[in-house]
Amino acid sequence: MTKLLSGKVAVVTGASRGIGRAIAEELAAEGASVVVNYHANAAAADEVVGGIVERGGTAVAIQADVSDFAAAERLIKAAIDTYGAIDILVNNAGTTRDTLLLSMKEEEWDVVLTTNLKSVYNTCKAITRPMVRRKAGGRIINISSVSGIVGQPGQTNYAASKAGIIGFSKSLAKELGSRHITVNVVAPGFVPTDLTAVMPDDLVKQTLAFIPLGRWGEAREIAHAVVFLASDKAGYITGAVIQVDGGIGT
Ligand code: NAP
Repeated sequence: MTKLLSGKVAVVTGASRGIGRAIAEELAAEGASVVVNYHANAAAADEVVGGIVERGGTAVAIQADVSDFAAAERLIKAAIDTYGAIDILVNNAGTTRDTLLLSMKEEEWDVVLTTNLKSVYNTCKAITRPMVRRKAGGRIINISSVSGIVGQPGQTNYAASKAGIIGFSKSLAKELGSRHITVNVVAPGFVPTDLTAVMPDDLVKQTLAFIPLGRWGEAREIAHAVVFLASDKAGYITGAVIQVDGGIGT
C-alpha cells in the first residue's frame, strides 16, 4: 500500500525530543525520508534515527542551532545534499524562559525570540529559493502554541514569539501560494515533554480545569495534524492555524 508521504523528504527542527520527535517518527511512518535536526542532544537524535530505521524508514540526524542564520542555512543545504531536495519543512524547535515581565531579563526575551521566531525566518529564508526553483511545490509547517493565541501570564516572551510565527506564516502563505508552496501553523495546547516538565504539579492540575476535553494532549496527536498538512490531502489549505489543544484556546 502506498503511504501518504512516500518519496517525500522532510526536515524537522528540534526532532531529538518531545513533539518534534513524534513528528519525525510519524512523517517517517508515512514514508517520508526525515532529517532529524537537533541542537545539543546528539544521543537523543541518534536514538530517534535508530528507531525510524529499525521500523524500515529512512532518517538522518543533522546538528544545527537554528536560531543562528548561518547554521540554519547549513542545515537546509546539508538536507538537500543528503536527499536531493526538501518537500516538507517543519519548524518545531522551541524553548521557554517563563517569568513575569517585571522580572524578565533581556537575555530571557532574546533567547526565546531567537530560538522560537528568528529560527523560523532563518530556515524559511534558506529553503524558499531552492523550493521555488525546483517548481515542485512544498509544505512549510510551523509550530506555534495556544499561548500565542490567548496569552499566558509569565510568557510574554514565549507568547510574542508564538504569535509572531502566526503572522509570519500567514504572510509567507500569501507570498508562496502561486508557487504551490503551502505555509500553515499547528498550535498545540499542553503536552507532556521536557518543556512542560518544569511546571509545578498544582499548576498542571489547574490547567485541566480549563481544557474542555479534560486532559493534556499527546505529542503524537500534534504530529497527526502535521502529517495531514504535509500530505496531498491538505493541498487547498494555506495560511491556516490548526489548534490541537483540547479546546483550551477557543
Ligand atoms: P522539548 O521537549 O523541550 O524539545 C525541544 C526540542 O527543540 C529539542 O529537540 C531541542 O534539541 C530542540 N531545540 C531547542 N533549541 C534549538 C535550537 N536553537 N536549534 C535546534 N534545535 C533546538 O520541547 P517540546 O515540548 O517538544 O516543544 C516542541 C515545540 O512545540 C516548541 O516549539 C514548543 O514551543 C511547542 N509547544 C509545546 C507545547 C507543550 O506543551 N510541550 C505546547 C505548545 C507548543 P536538543 O535535544 O538538542 O536540545
